[in-house]
Amino acid sequence: MADTISIPAGLLNEIIAHCKEVYPNEACGILAGKGNDIERAYKITNIKNSPVIYEMEPVEQLRCEKDIRNARLKIICLYHSHPSSSAHLSQADVAKAYWQGEPDMPIYPDACYMIIGPVDGNLEVRVFKLSGQKINEVKLDII
Ligand SMILES: [Zn+2]
Repeated sequence: MADTISIPAGLLNEIIAHCKEVYPNEACGILAGKGNDIERAYKITNIKNSPVIYEMEPVEQLRCEKDIRNARLKIICLYHSHPSSSAHLSQADVAKAYWQGEPDMPIYPDACYMIIGPVDGNLEVRVFKLSGQKINEVKLDII
């Protein structure tokens, strides 16, 4: 996994629009592509309908993953918004990246995490990659 991923500006605008659309709740979704280049964005319903937590609607999530496999793409990034807090991975976000009770077993071992926040303030988009409990920032190249 390189420490830079790319995203077309139009796609990033769609993601930001999604975050604003579900504000004040958290938005979530999956970004897929080839190599380190994001080509598609899938909005997923946050079944928690909450401003502080998200959980992807499981059937939408499965359909999305199937679609990605069928297109011979891979999941590059999982995104979610922070309606009123900064674009950093929270402790809860880190915990959520691993199977419950298995801090060495990431659910998506090759995926990065994109955070968009604060949606109601000076919005930033940042991407992180986890290695164990260590958080590394990944450069986002807007193309
Ligand atoms: Zn979060």
